[in-house]
Amino acid sequence: MRDCYQRKITYLRVSVTERCNFRCFYCRPREGGACSGSDIPLGHVVRVVEAGTLVGIRKVRLTGGEPLVRKDITEITASIAGMDGIDDVALTTNGSLLRRYAPALHQAGLRRVNISLDTLKPDRFQRITCNGRFEETWDGIEAALEYGLHPVKLNTVVMRNVNDDEILDFVRLTERLPLHVRFIEVMPIGKSSKTAKGQLVTAEEIRQKLDSEYSNPEPIKSVGGDGPARYWKVPGAPGTVGFIAPLSGYFCDSCNRLRLTSSGTLRPCLCQGDELDLNEALNRGADRAELAALIAEAITRKPRGHADDTIEPVVDRLMSQIGG
Ligand code: SAM
Ligand code: SF4
Repeated sequence: MRDCYQRKITYLRVSVTERCNFRCFYCRPREGGACSGSDIPLGHVVRVVEAGTLVGIRKVRLTGGEPLVRKDITEITASIAGMDGIDDVALTTNGSLLRRYAPALHQAGLRRVNISLDTLKPDRFQRITCNGRFEETWDGIEAALEYGLHPVKLNTVVMRNVNDDEILDFVRLTERLPLHVRFIEVMPIGKSSKTAKGQLVTAEEIRQKLDSEYSNPEPIKSVGGDGPARYWKVPGAPGTVGFIAPLSGYFCDSCNRLRLTSSGTLRPCLCQGDELDLNEALNRGADRAELAALIAEAITRKPRGHADDTIEPVVDRLMSQIGG
């Protein structure tokens, strides 16, 4: 189905839980809002995705919070991967539990994974994530490569004076391994938005850094998936470098997605508070057609964009509740 701006909406991101074993300061700031620890029930996820296929949803990404803290993540993956009308199931994870789950997830039908990694320095990793261990996430990345969860994409949020000195280290990683590093602009969340604004490093600035070191990066059309990243590649490298610019650039015009939050609401736009609550319909046993009509309504409520003059792109809820 197309929204009011003729964008075809085919992609549903599902935050299966707002719980997480990390506490990255830019995602779950202490002052950013309460975290009730809610999980959306498996049955609700399955019914929403099934209904979504009636209005053209073809791709689902499981995210969170940390999706791998859910004991039934393999069951969720298998239920969606086996569904008529769904072509692609992907996962976004912090990677710390991926070594343990990769075989079962692969068997359940997971084919692609995005892993968040903001630094290659273990002590810095611990500071950013609050209590995460770099070695565990790196082991998860290696597991993803071993199980062929290709393309393995790394999500790297770049922040001034936090990790912006590592941009070229990440680029060098793509010269060694078939990893697709995506540099993401940090988005302001709730009350901590002032800090994030001061830490913003734009995609353009990152590009300039890349250009200063590499004279001939090649533009690449796509590395699989149809997200908002634009990709480049160092000639001869097995991996690529991408840029996701929610604040400074091309993001909304090609938006093809809807979000199902961990509390059972549909969120038409990442950066706007408007949400359509599905809980009443789900709890009363609404059938597929009724749910599909609600999903269609959420699609028609998608705004043209968050990056125009009238809308300040500040995320009003925790990113872990919305799913990023
Ligand atoms: N826990 C998983 C992970 O970290 O990959 C999945 C959930 S996390 C909310 C999804 C993505 O959102 C991650 O890549 C994370 O880096 C990104 N993210 C979280 N907060 C952000 C922020 N303030 N600005 C930009 N990206 C953010
Ligand atoms: Fe957890 Fe992912 Fe948010 Fe970090 S970015 S706190 S790993 S949900």
